[in-house]
Amino acid sequence: MLMRKQIAAANWKMNGNAQQAEALLRDVMQQKIKLSDDQVVIFAVPFPFLVTANQQLGKEHNYFIAAQNCSSHASGAYTGEVSAEMLKSIHIKYCIIGHSERREYFSETNAQLAEKINLLLKNEITPIFCCGEPLDIREANGQDKHVEAQVQESLFHLAADDLLKVVIAYEPIWAIGTGKTATTAQAQEMHAFIRSVIAKRYGKEIASEVSILYGGSVKANNAGEIFGAPDVDGGLVGGASLVAKDFIQIIQSLKN
Ligand code: PEP
Repeated sequence: MLMRKQIAAANWKMNGNAQQAEALLRDVMQQKIKLSDDQVVIFAVPFPFLVTANQQLGKEHNYFIAAQNCSSHASGAYTGEVSAEMLKSIHIKYCIIGHSERREYFSETNAQLAEKINLLLKNEITPIFCCGEPLDIREANGQDKHVEAQVQESLFHLAADDLLKVVIAYEPIWAIGTGKTATTAQAQEMHAFIRSVIAKRYGKEIASEVSILYGGSVKANNAGEIFGAPDVDGGLVGGASLVAKDFIQIIQSLKN
């Protein structure tokens, strides 16, 4: 039996409205897919829908609602920001941070993400930490160095027991929303590399317990193959998570 969690995480991004969000969640949940103790399904919804989505989900085993971001500050005069403490107070258990869109459009740095990680862990929220290289770096074969720096600079200040509370999502930027998926071999290679980077710092046993999700044009028809790779522990899914029947198939593609 696999120790680490196998996770299907939907990233709805800034799509839809309250009514559409409710309908989408209802359509997926109506399928009543029973998850094993080692499988987790997460819906990262826009901030205004967090409370109602959480109520709608109820206490269904291993289904959770996530935020898509949080502030790198604990509280204070930061108009428009949402703190980790606020998320905790509405019973949110997961939060995506460092998505490439936030790094690119909102200039988030590895150091800021380290602060977000600390605040989330302090508030007992599992960070889903995104990393991944842009196309020019992949073409210059610099992906290992790039991703290693992201992981080191945002996560390696953590003690081992805190690192175990983090989920990593490897998302090659050239594959996000482009329809261009990394091949299963490319995904496996990077996931194994990330695990080796963690093993160098924390040891093999810790590294083998961290869930590493793949993100980048995961679809209903390729999830099974990608999730089947030994170091891929599920996916962070954008576009396909907005179509109930597709996301249902993606959930059903998790290893068990
Ligand atoms: C994402 O935004 O995390 C993502 C992987 O998007 P898509 O599945 O649409 O490529």
